[in-house]
Amino acid sequence: MAKLYFRYGTVGSAKTLNLVAVAHNYRQQGKKILLLKPELDSRFGKDQIKSRAGLEMQADILVQPDSNLLYLDFEGISCLLADEAQFLSKHLIDQLRAITLLKNIPVICYGLRTDFKGRLFEGSLRLMELADSIEEIKATCHFCNKKSIMNLKHLNGHATLEGPTVQLGAEERYLPTCFPCYIRELQKSGALATEPAAAALSI
Ligand SMILES: [Zn+2]
Repeated sequence: MAKLYFRYGTVGSAKTLNLVAVAHNYRQQGKKILLLKPELDSRFGKDQIKSRAGLEMQADILVQPDSNLLYLDFEGISCLLADEAQFLSKHLIDQLRAITLLKNIPVICYGLRTDFKGRLFEGSLRLMELADSIEEIKATCHFCNKKSIMNLKHLNGHATLEGPTVQLGAEERYLPTCFPCYIRELQKSGALATEPAAAALSI
């Protein structure tokens, strides 16, 4: 049976670049793939899958939370790749899991693990529950040289915990950080208490 993969990382961890490289590799071998992304991500144009390094590809399928994928034509498809998988609904991840079983097509999902408040996204949660393989795409903290695990939101130059969870936008709004830098920056901006234990325990 084909596998379901979840490759996660913070902002700036080259997830989309990784996806584009895998897609390119399949196509170079003359194999057909399908590229899928949630419709809400329209940063670079509706059906563009574009990495911050500049490489881009056209998405084949734009999905809504209630889209039905099982009746699509998967004839001759070698792999299905999903970008921004954190924004996929539980319903969609369940279908991707079913596709690996019923159509025997591997599905590789790329996405963030958590939002800027440190909470799992709906799609990431379901992928953590169901994926055969969970791999971290590593990146470095914006402020030091540790590995980043958090996505720090900056609004008008200040670290913040305010605002909606789903907010896609300019790169400078979200910074990859390690946990100590995440806490420190939020303390500096007044979003968290200055007392260390109170701050660390309130995330
Ligand atoms: Zn750091």
